Amino acid sequence: MTDCIFCKIINKDIPAKIAYEDEEMLVFHDIQPKAAVHLLIIPKKHITSLAHTTAEDTLLLGKLLQKTAILAKEFGLTDGYKTQINTGIGGGQEVFHLHLHVLGTPKPK
Ligand code: 5GP
Ligand code: ZN
Repeated sequence: MTDCIFCKIINKDIPAKIAYEDEEMLVFHDIQPKAAVHLLIIPKKHITSLAHTTAEDTLLLGKLLQKTAILAKEFGLTDGYKTQINTGIGGGQEVFHLHLHVLGTPKPK
């Protein structure tokens, strides 16, 4: 989608601090972090919101969630973390490309 800011990040048309990438997803740091660690996990496929997912997306959604757990551990969020998916205007969604927020504070070693 040409007018989608997250698609532009996927296409490297605009920069982002990337934490993880594979053929199906991109993970990058939120530009206005609301916690010491604030990651955004997005599918590379443009899906407008969680409400726009279908049964076809079941495996992809599972992979996004599972990668969330792996990355949270890698970023030191071993005490726990918050995950959030804002859906639609009423859900506070501002960027209309499905994304999962991960917020937390790394536990000192
Ligand atoms: P939403 O309210 O849609 O769930 O959250 C969108 C998030 O995307 C916000 O936390 C906002 O700070 C972040 N964001 C918006 N534009 C950009 C951008 O260009 N780069 C990055 N890294 N994050 C962005
Ligand atoms: Zn998009």
